[in-house]
Formats: sequence, structure tokens, C-alpha cells
Amino acid sequence: MAETYDYDLFTIGAGSGGTRASRVSAGHGAKVAIAEEYRVGGTCVIRGCVPKKMLIYGAHFAEDLEDAQRFGWTVDNCTFDWKTLRDNVQDDVDRLNGAYTDTLENHGVEIFHERAEITGPHSVKLASGREVTAKYILVACGARPHVPECGGSDLGITSNDAFHLEELPKRILIAGGGYIANEFAGIFNEFGTKVTIINRSKTLLRQYDQALRDRLLQISIAKGIDFRFDAEFESIERTDEGCLRVHMSNHEPMDVDCVMYATGRVPNTEGLGLENAGVELDEKGAIKVDEYSQTSCESIYAVGDCTPRIQLTPVAIREGQAFADTIFGGNKTAVDLSCVPSAVFSHPPIASVGLTEGDAKNKLGSVKVYQSDFRPMKNVLAGRDERSLYKMVCDAANDRIVGIHLIGPDAPEILQAAAVAVKAGLTKADFDATVAIHPTMAEELVLLK
Ligand code: NDP
Repeated sequence: MAETYDYDLFTIGAGSGGTRASRVSAGHGAKVAIAEEYRVGGTCVIRGCVPKKMLIYGAHFAEDLEDAQRFGWTVDNCTFDWKTLRDNVQDDVDRLNGAYTDTLENHGVEIFHERAEITGPHSVKLASGREVTAKYILVACGARPHVPECGGSDLGITSNDAFHLEELPKRILIAGGGYIANEFAGIFNEFGTKVTIINRSKTLLRQYDQALRDRLLQISIAKGIDFRFDAEFESIERTDEGCLRVHMSNHEPMDVDCVMYATGRVPNTEGLGLENAGVELDEKGAIKVDEYSQTSCESIYAVGDCTPRIQLTPVAIREGQAFADTIFGGNKTAVDLSCVPSAVFSHPPIASVGLTEGDAKNKLGSVKVYQSDFRPMKNVLAGRDERSLYKMVCDAANDRIVGIHLIGPDAPEILQAAAVAVKAGLTKADFDATVAIHPTMAEELVLLK
């Protein structure tokens, strides 16, 4: 006789991946429950991409208001109130949290607002003590900010806390040179905080094309952001004056009001009972999965940032969808992680798809690079000496585009459409054959030399 379970699917973690997988599985007819120990919505919605983007919008007004005067506007007595923005952003986070909860409930997914731990290949124990069984378990428990191990590290904050600051710091030191460091550096700098980024290596945003990284560094410095490279945390102490003194390798100690860690994110896999079901982890604690998101335990799958794949919301959503279609939709679907576009919402933003020039040369040998280094029309009239850079990398053997890399205003908005072309395997000639929309920044893509 077939074994019976309380649920067809039990999902741990109601973030982007877990929510999509649960909702779609329920839509396919599965009986689904989901456990979430914090707030439904996960990192992206509650303390990541979404509130961060709202802060980016808020920060941008600083430059827009400055530029407005060159466009004839008199902008008097402008002031910025952090608490107004912070609270309005949190109100919208509450709205989204409600929307995500409604979506799950409307699809008949039972929500447990508590922590769940795996007790076996088909069983989960909830914090309240209740034990439930499921034919499949999906682990979608995400990741959390890495906090460097050093004396006084508890004196610093992470991006989780940045959304809730009581006051804006006058001086902030941000550790790390990746996405979060550069995005929050732009935000705080626009709000008038003195920002210093310290990075353990000489390289910012290592996975992006070098020319774009160099351009962002140059523009960031011009905007007043300071950088210290080869600077590894040694310790943090609170001084008698009440500020934080940060000691680091190769540089003098530095006094600031706030220290924020942006040194990567680690999978939330400890204490989850994964060992009870023989689920294997990699050396960084991420759950090993195959192309169908199946773990080393047949009945347990994992999606999103707790797996060693790309830590991006749309990727987790794809993985969740593919899981649901494979297991409950009768449509075995592997996740296609080739040509995933991405963006850094720095000031100005970077957006990229495919291979960098360096990676393309290593992989293909001979490449052709087309480039436009231009000053957007709005910046010209505003008297803002900030140039954009667009790069297209092609396989010299067949003209096929293998990468597009942009830095400049609205770069992520522009790249999304161009990423379709790269994914579809189009060539430089296809772009050349497309008539420009004038005057735009995006037209540079079809006019590249
Ligand atoms: P990133 O992986 O982007 O960058 C981490 C940075 O911290 C690197 O500069 C790295 O240096 C440095 N670093 C790593 N470990 C240490 C350490 N032990 N001590 C000192 N420095 C260290 O991480 P983030 O925290 O910025 O973001 C985490 C992830 O979240 C990203 O990888 C991304 O996938 C996702 N994310 C995406 C966003 C988007 O799509 N716009 C926005 C925010 C986050 P080195 O290069 O030398 O290793």
C-alpha cells in the first residue's frame, strides 16, 4: 500500500523561490504547506532588492534636484527626512508581505509562521513541537549576510539593519566591494553621509567587465566616496567619544559612526536538520543540488540562495517554478542558468549579460569588442561630467554577441531587452540592422563602433 503523508509538499522558507514553488505546486493540484520563521516574502521583498530599490529612488532625488536648476527650476529650501522615506518604504514592505501571504492562501497553501526543521526524508518538526510528514520537502531557506570574524564585529550592522536606522550616520564605513557595498555606498552618499568602502582585495565587483568596474570607481570617487583597497578587517572598538574605530590591514585606523558589512551572504543551512535526511552540503554550507534542484536525498529538493547557484531573485523564482513543474506539473524542467542578466544599482547603475571581455577571450580566443563612451544628453545640459560606457563583446568567428555590458543611467532598464537578443544568439549585424530610437541612450546599442 502506498504510504500516506500529511502533505504532498512541505516548503521551508517563504521567500521568492519557496513562494513560487509552493504556489505553482498547489496550482498543479498538490496539497502544500510552507513554514516561514520571519516574514513571508523573504530577503528580496522584506530586506533586499525591493526596499533597496526604493531607497535608490529616494537617493536619486539628490542629484535630480541639483540638476533641476540647470533646467530652469528654482528649488528652494530642499531638505531630506530619512525617517519619512524609511517609514514609507517599510509601509510598502508591509503591503507586499500581505500580498505574498494572500497569494499563498488564495492558492490553498497552508502557512506555518514558525521555524521548521527536517527530522527525516519525509518529516519536518515545527517550532511549536508539531511534526508533519510530506512526500516531498523543498528547502528554500535563503542566505544571510556574512559577518567578518574580528574583535568588536558585533558593533557593525548588515544590510538587514540599514533599512531600519534610527538616524543616518554622518560617516559610514562599508566593508566589501560587491553588489551591496556599491549600492549602499551610492545611497548613503546621496543622503549626505561620508562613505568609505574598504575591500580586502584590489577588485570591486569582480564578476563584472573591467572597463565598467573602472568607470564606476572613477565616478564614485568623483562623487565623494572614498575607497581603501587591500584592507582586511582587524578589529572594531568603541572610542571614548562614542564613535567606532576600525583597525584594518595596510591602512591607518579610521573613526566612523557606523560600520556595515557587505562581505557576501552565507546559506542558512545550520540547525535545519539536513543531516537527518542525508542532505549533502558543499564546503561553504550550501545545499548541493542537480539540474532539477534535487539534493542527495531523493525526496528533498532545494532552490534559491541556500544552493550554490546564482544568488538572484529571478533565478530562485525560475528554480521554484521548474521544481513545481517537474514534480507536480508533469513537465520535467531543468533550470537554464546560461546568459542570466544582472544589475548593480549603484550610482550610476551597471547592467550586464553574458561574458565579460576577459572571460570571452579566455573562452573563445578571438573576440571583437564594440564600444560607445558617451555623455548622456541629460548630463550634458545638467553640466554633470559623468560618462556612460556601453560594450558589446562578440565571438570573432561568427559575429555572435556573447556579452553586453552597460554603465549609465537606466542601464538595467535598457539591458533587459538587449539580454533577450544575446540569449537568442543574435549577431552584431542584427543590431546594426535595427534602426535607432533617437534621441535615447539605448540607441547607442545599435550604433556601436
Ligand atoms: P558580493 O559577493 O557581491 O561581494 C562580496 C564582497 O565582499 C567582495 O568584494 C568580496 O571580496 C568581499 N568579501 C567576501 N568575503 C570577505 C571576507 N571574509 N572579508 C572581507 N571581504 C570579503 O556580496 P554582497 O554581500 O554584496 O551581496 C551578496 C549577494 O547578494 C551577491 O552576490 C548577489 O548575488 C546578491 N545581491 C544582488 C543584488 C542585485 O542583483 N542588484 C543586490 C544585492 C545583493 P573578493 O571579491 O575579494 O572576494
